[in-house]
Amino acid sequence: MHSAGTCLEAAAGGPTLRPLATFASDPFPQPSLTIFQTKAYAAASATAKLASTRIPRRDPTARDVQIEILFCGICHSDLHSVRNEWSSVMPTTYPIVPGHEIVGRVTKVGAAVSKHRVGDLVAVGCLVDADRTCPQCKRDHENFCANGVFTFNAPDAHLGGVTYGGYSQSIVVDEHFVLRVPKNLDPAGAAPLLCAGITTWSPLRHWGVGKGKKVGIIGLGGLGHMGVKFAHALGAHTVVFTTSANKRDDARRLGADEVVVSRNADEMLRHVGSFDFLLDAVSADHDINAYLNLLTNDGTMVLVGAPEKPLNVSAFSLLMGRRTLAGSIIGGIAETQEMLDFCGQHGITADVEVIPIQKVNEAYERVLRSDVKYRFCIDMASLQAEGS
Ligand SMILES: [Zn+2]
Ligand SMILES: [Zn+2]
Repeated sequence: MHSAGTCLEAAAGGPTLRPLATFASDPFPQPSLTIFQTKAYAAASATAKLASTRIPRRDPTARDVQIEILFCGICHSDLHSVRNEWSSVMPTTYPIVPGHEIVGRVTKVGAAVSKHRVGDLVAVGCLVDADRTCPQCKRDHENFCANGVFTFNAPDAHLGGVTYGGYSQSIVVDEHFVLRVPKNLDPAGAAPLLCAGITTWSPLRHWGVGKGKKVGIIGLGGLGHMGVKFAHALGAHTVVFTTSANKRDDARRLGADEVVVSRNADEMLRHVGSFDFLLDAVSADHDINAYLNLLTNDGTMVLVGAPEKPLNVSAFSLLMGRRTLAGSIIGGIAETQEMLDFCGQHGITADVEVIPIQKVNEAYERVLRSDVKYRFCIDMASLQAEGS
């Protein structure tokens, strides 16, 4: 059972998809492009392990930034894509290089780049492009753009084929989609902010979580542990819901004012009708009505995890108290920068277990057992040891 939800699980049924067929097999990369090779880890099929390889990257064009990748977090979406578990909505093109929690150093910039300089500590999240002209893009919601381009396994307009993600030595991205990382943050702990961080930050901000609000975080995995840190730092009275009593101390350490073991009916009853906001980061099947009933009048519960099967929602859970059930997926570029700046001011990073890339397949098995506190992060220096 997975207690932690993941960003793109929600995207699987969302509006940000476009048919791969019209883009993926473009045999005509732009003729002016120069290409270089970089080391990476890729999976050759849905059943293959990730292994060392080389992939092409474009030399930076006018608005591109070339980044030497220092760290890349492991998101559950990486596993889903590598194993083609979302084949019905987002089929995987092999080889796949996953990874969208990227922190690195700028090594080269195009002539028109103004936002970043060589040597800057920067980050790339789930998106590397969008049309930038649609109403969503104009409102800084690139995450809702119908032509958004995901960091891996999305049509690559420059090179043809699909985009390759962060399990690699370097990446080249348009400057608009490159974020600044505050210098005081540990770069390994900062990497998961780019997916787990923004996925929880965006709904907390959108629904005005802050002082005087009672906020619940459901599930204490990769997403949930970031939700607790943010809700606490934003000044809300923060309550963590977990299925395991042995997570109590950890939840408090992360910033929880109270911890509720959700299997304990008495503990749950004590909170009925009292929450302004609930963030549901659970991707396993669970009783959503038990949580909706904890909301006060006009309270909102937001899903950021995506259980495989539809959730059973009782109309009465919403009718009583005019409650709202909503969802949210990653965030726009401006709010991602806002989150990173907030993390810099408050010294917030993810709790990570740093691994060499040679342990990535083992880490995947541990992610499936929820055996990580709370995010794996790959130290990309370990890729140097792979064959040249
Ligand atoms: Zn992710
Ligand atoms: Zn757009």
